[in-house]
Amino acid sequence: MVDSYDAIVVGAGPAGSAAALTMAREGLSVTLLERGDYPGSKNVFGGTIYRQPTAEISSAFWHEAPLERAIINDELWLLETDSAVRMGFTSKRFARDPYNKFAVYRSRFDKWLARQAQEAGALLRTRACARDFTYDKGLITKGPINGVRLDTGEILRANVVVIAEGVTPFLTGKAGLLKKQLPPAAFTLYVKEVLGLPREKINERFHLENDEGSIIGMFGYPNATGVGKAGLWTYGETLSLIVGGSLSQMVSMGLSPYVLLQRVKGHPLVKPLIEGAEPLEYQAHLIPKGGYEFIPQLYGDHVLVTGDAATMISGRRGTDLAMLSGKYAGETVAQAKAKGDFSVKMLANYQLKLQKSFFYKDIKAGREDFLYYQKHPDADYLLSSTLNDLAYQFFTVDLQNTHQKHQQLRNIIAGQQFPLKTLDDLWSGLHHWGAF
Ligand SMILES: Cc1cc2nc3c(=O)[nH]c(=O)nc-3n(C[C@H](O)[C@H](O)[C@H](O)COP(=O)(O)OP(=O)(O)OC[C@H]3O[C@@H](n4cnc5c(N)ncnc54)[C@H](O)[C@@H]3O)c2cc1C
Repeated sequence: MVDSYDAIVVGAGPAGSAAALTMAREGLSVTLLERGDYPGSKNVFGGTIYRQPTAEISSAFWHEAPLERAIINDELWLLETDSAVRMGFTSKRFARDPYNKFAVYRSRFDKWLARQAQEAGALLRTRACARDFTYDKGLITKGPINGVRLDTGEILRANVVVIAEGVTPFLTGKAGLLKKQLPPAAFTLYVKEVLGLPREKINERFHLENDEGSIIGMFGYPNATGVGKAGLWTYGETLSLIVGGSLSQMVSMGLSPYVLLQRVKGHPLVKPLIEGAEPLEYQAHLIPKGGYEFIPQLYGDHVLVTGDAATMISGRRGTDLAMLSGKYAGETVAQAKAKGDFSVKMLANYQLKLQKSFFYKDIKAGREDFLYYQKHPDADYLLSSTLNDLAYQFFTVDLQNTHQKHQQLRNIIAGQQFPLKTLDDLWSGLHHWGAF
């Protein structure tokens, strides 16, 4: 006897659990499949979740979800060998209800979110890896998808399969939904080190109190002239340090993620923040950064794609886009169930919902980012080093009069290229920043 459901969700990351939760709340029978030992066991991020979008999935979640710290300080450092141009904002208001964003461990948060889906009635199956689809019998070719086959050979049936498999779109490809092959340039590769440090030391070094948290985003020096970023997050009793960038550039420049990690850790402004911290864990993960041009066909007959598998990434944000796209997928399946129609025409409503969302508009507006970084592979580094040069001269007290000083600053820019071109480049760089 084959188990049969209204929906099967493949992957218990933020996208899959949000989809399962939404459908279970609507009274649908749902099974949520996770290949890992538990939800979150295979998931890596920086990372931050955001209060307003996450509340769309679970209102007032901050009273019960496993959160590490409320982020009150957000900084951006443009690094050179021994200096940094720093920008940032700190607000104690973000330490209070209703908050802004939180540092979380994915291993705890994903487990919690999947449990919400379970409590609403979804069946969670861990160590359950979906290998392929099963299909209705067609007259000549195979008919629409009607379930999945697990790697154990077990078959599960459903009216709809929601694919929430993350960055490697294996099943999305099998469902014939990829519009084009994904080149290495459409991904970034990040490595992460988790560093143990007592809470008091973290608070002292980052000027925090109690459960307040801080994020430092960095670019320029950490990526050895390549495109990419580094970031340092404070957790309860650990720090999360990530670094990485364009996968194709890492390969062509022969950059090893491990070397980049050592490079950031050794930077004179980063070193004192992590001094004495004990390396606890090392992880690596890809991010789908191809943008709008690489969004797959989002729906098919009896199938939908959400989250990273659908390239729902905008700037530094991915978890919230995953959860919201999962929610829209869940709502669409609930509507389809009410009408008893799971055809491609009915499931097209999912795309309409996405198109109305703020993030789809952002992803579309950023469609040039990918091309920009292909054309300017050293953009981040140039932006960072030019600003450091300018700041160094600006802040150096010397014997020049104001006119001479201004001339000197103009010369730094003109020494590279026509000043207006540099201003234009700076503007474009800042406009596209966040794309990688
Ligand atoms: C280094 C790094 C830093 C990041 N920082 C941030 C950040 O600070 N803030 C932010 O919002 N986003 C961040 N992101 C992005 C964010 O992590 C992703 O966008 C988000 O996790 C996508 O959620 P998802 O549910 O689509 O995929 P995932 O979280 O990858 O979940 C997919 C799940 O599907 C399971 N799975 C896959 N295939 C199968 C199968 N065949 N059968 C069963 N299960 C399967 C996997 O085990 C996994 O649990 C970061 C990403 C990285 C790599």
